[in-house]
Parts: sequence; structure tokens; C-alpha cells
Amino acid sequence: MAVRDAFDRPLGALRLSVTDRCNLRCRYCMPAERHDWLPRSEILSFAELCALVDVFVRLGVGRVRITGGEPLLRRDLPTLVAMLAAKPAIRDLALTTNGLLLGALARPLRAAGLGRITVSLDTLRVDRFERLTRRDGLGQVLAGLEAARKAGFSPIKLDALLLRGINDDEIFDLLELARSAGAELRFIEYMDMGDATGWRPEQVVPQAEILARVQERYGAPLPFGDRGSAPAARYRLGDGLVFGVVSGTSAPFCTACDRGRLTAGGMFYGCLYATQGTDLKAPLRAGASAAELAGILQRSWTERRDRSAEERWRRQLAAGAELGEGPRVEMHERGG
Ligand code: SAM
Ligand code: SF4
Ligand code: SF4
Repeated sequence: MAVRDAFDRPLGALRLSVTDRCNLRCRYCMPAERHDWLPRSEILSFAELCALVDVFVRLGVGRVRITGGEPLLRRDLPTLVAMLAAKPAIRDLALTTNGLLLGALARPLRAAGLGRITVSLDTLRVDRFERLTRRDGLGQVLAGLEAARKAGFSPIKLDALLLRGINDDEIFDLLELARSAGAELRFIEYMDMGDATGWRPEQVVPQAEILARVQERYGAPLPFGDRGSAPAARYRLGDGLVFGVVSGTSAPFCTACDRGRLTAGGMFYGCLYATQGTDLKAPLRAGASAAELAGILQRSWTERRDRSAEERWRRQLAAGAELGEGPRVEMHERGG
């Protein structure tokens, strides 16, 4: 049973957060100190996660991306991956990680049936890594990337968030790392999320500027492939290297957005920026049937009118309003 929202967008993909915790404290995502983590009893068990994923599948979801917080912190994650990989309706099972724990986990995750992996890495400089993430660990992430390659993930995606004046001088270094690691790099525009992150519009490096800078060094990047509902616009360089740009701020992609989000605490959100969610854990724990849960989710998706990134950008262009205005949510709770 495929459902469509108020703008005729299907529910096709699910970002599945398996924890709200993280072993990094990236400045653009999390406050330095945090004490209000979800208590263990509020976190969905593997059986509960799978029961809810089945409900999403009933409504048309065929792509699931495991995320967090940092998903590799979730104990026995390969067991959950195996449970999800056993569902034939999930034709694409992916995971986004900061890579710190990939050294030990890449192989078991691959063996459990994980299809694709994305590693977030914004800098190749030890001091900057520490400044951006407030933790040590660049060497560990690079080792994790290598472990993922050896485990057979191909191509690995590499997500690099660019911050003006902080790491935007590493565009070429990151592209060359991707080339040598056999990975596909995606530059991520800095999005305005979360009160604690001090987002400022002048820190965003917009897609147009990224492409212009790439062009200076490598020649004009040509659009590549069919984007569909994917957040990244992909480009190909004359030498064959393919990369992408996720322009969530300057050229949002709400029109084709088919992603729902389930938090580790069992809240469903139709948008990264949504302030109102739908609690699926309470009815699940109260014994609701799969059909009843599907009804709740269907109502929620049918009413979905979210186009927040586009609206924020339009407001900014029309009124010169600051993008930083309006309600904030925490990225690490919504899975990025
Ligand atoms: N911890 C994992 C990781 O970092 O890959 C998964 C969760 S993290 C929230 C997912 C993605 O969100 C990361 O690639 C991160 O760069 C991105 N992200 C976090 N804060 C962001 C922001 N303010 N703007 C754009 N992307 C952001
Ligand atoms: Fe953690 Fe990922 Fe957020 Fe960084 S971006 S703080 S690694 S959840
Ligand atoms: Fe989708 Fe909301 Fe992001 Fe737009 S702002 S692309 S609707 S998650």
C-alpha cells in the first residue's frame, strides 16, 4: 500500500536512528556537553525497530539508512543489520557513520548483509579534526575507511561538510582522498540545525561556489546520472572522478523528498526540521497491531506538508530574513 503526502510525494525511504548518543561532538551538530540522553528503557529494542520497519515497508519504504547519533555505538549492531537484511522488501540497506569504530565493525556489518556505507569525514588534518569534532580520532577514521574498503563495500560514500574559513581549503585534498580510497565524495552544505551549534549564514559554502572552485582546478564538472529522490546532485570530472553536492541550504531538494525519519526513541518525523512528530513507540508498546500502526503512520504521511528547507531559503531570498530564525531541532536526533 503506497501512500502519498499532501504534495503527492511517496514514502520511499527511512532514516532509522538506532541511538541518540555519539562518540564525537561535531560543532555543527551537537553541543559540547550533553546530559539529556534518552534513558535505555526509552530506546527501541531490535525487535521493536524491526516491527516498526515492517510497518514502513507496508507503506512503500524500500530503502533504509541506519544512522544516529553514532550508529556503531549501538551494541550488537550487526545483529540488527542481519534482521533488516533478511527483509526482501528492503532493496537498499545503508548506514552512515563517523567511522571511528569501523575498523572492528566493517567486516561483521558486511557479513550481516549491509549493502552500502557512508563515512562522514570533513578534514584530513589532525588539529582540525579535533577542533571540529572536539575529540581525537582522525587516524582511527582513516583506518575505518580502509577496513570498509577491505570488507568489500564499494563504492564507499564519503560525506564532507564544508565550513567557510575552517575546512573549505580542503576541497581538493578531500577529492583526492576519495579518488585514492575508491570512494565517492559528497560535499555537504552546512544546514541551520540545533541551538547549540552557532550556525551563521556566512559559514555556508554554497553549491555554486563549490562547483566553481572545483572547475578552477579540474575543469567544468558535468552533471552525472539521474538524481531521482537522492539528496546529492552528482557530477563527473573530465578525468572520470564522480562526486556529489548535498545542497540542503542553497538549493534544497524538498520537492522530491520521500524520506521519513524514525528516532531511537520511536518518534516519527516527516522532515528534518519538523517540530511535531508522531509517537509510534507508545502504541507499539501498548500492543497496537501492525495494521493499526500502519494506519497511524499513513495518516501522518498523508498530512505531510513539509518543505522546510525550501521555505527557509525562499524566506531568506524574499525578505532578507536570517536563515537562522525559526524553530531549531537537533541533527543528531534526526539522523542527518
Ligand atoms: N554520526 C554519524 C555521522 O556523523 O555520520 C551519523 C549521524 S550524523 C547526524 C549524519 C550526517 O549529518 C553527518 O554526515 C553530518 O555531517 C551531518 N550533519 C550534522 N550536522 C549537520 C549540519 N548542521 N548541516 C549539515 N549536515 C549536518
Ligand atoms: Fe556525532 Fe555524527 Fe553529529 Fe558528528 S555529525 S556529532 S559524529 S552524530
Ligand atoms: Fe525533506 Fe524536510 Fe529536508 Fe525538505 S527540509 S528535503 S522536506 S527533510
